[in-house]
Amino acid sequence: MNIIYIQIGSNMGNRISYIERSMQEIEQEIGEVICSSKIYESSPWGVTNQNNFLNSVIKVQTKYSAEIVLKKLQAIEKKLGRVRKEKWGERKIDIDILFFNSEIINTENLKVPHPYIQDRRFVLVPLSEIAINYNHPVLQKDIFTLFKECTDTEKVYEYAI
Ligand code: AMP
Repeated sequence: MNIIYIQIGSNMGNRISYIERSMQEIEQEIGEVICSSKIYESSPWGVTNQNNFLNSVIKVQTKYSAEIVLKKLQAIEKKLGRVRKEKWGERKIDIDILFFNSEIINTENLKVPHPYIQDRRFVLVPLSEIAINYNHPVLQKDIFTLFKECTDTEKVYEYAI
């Protein structure tokens, strides 16, 4: 069995509902959701004139390979109505693989660990809630250390449902 950490984000429409539906689809199509972080709110990264994002990180156990998981996640994004417009643009749903076991994958379609984990508080805040001791296989530092060293100043708030 493989252990993966997945980030789910949404900044359009009923954001909570998109995140919850993604989790249900992941549970059905990919594998058991072992634990999930709280949901956090943050301003959009890279562009400003948009709704705030809601984000959550989940830990999932799966029998599928990373490539297959990516395909299944993209199918879930599509099913839930994601329309790809601009880079960093608005999105009903964005699902990223953060870690896949301790593997390092660097293909055209898939970069794992996700390249921006250490740079973004909106990733590190939920990730540290469920994986504070997890060792980043490239940087060889745990999430606690990456969080301490991160220079991003963006505010990330726990979202009250
Ligand atoms: P985005 O529009 O930000 O969701 O990026 C989607 C693209 O990123 C897809 O074409 C994926 O093949 C690629 N990608 C590369 N690494 C990852 C990853 N770790 N998780 C999800 N998508 C990835």
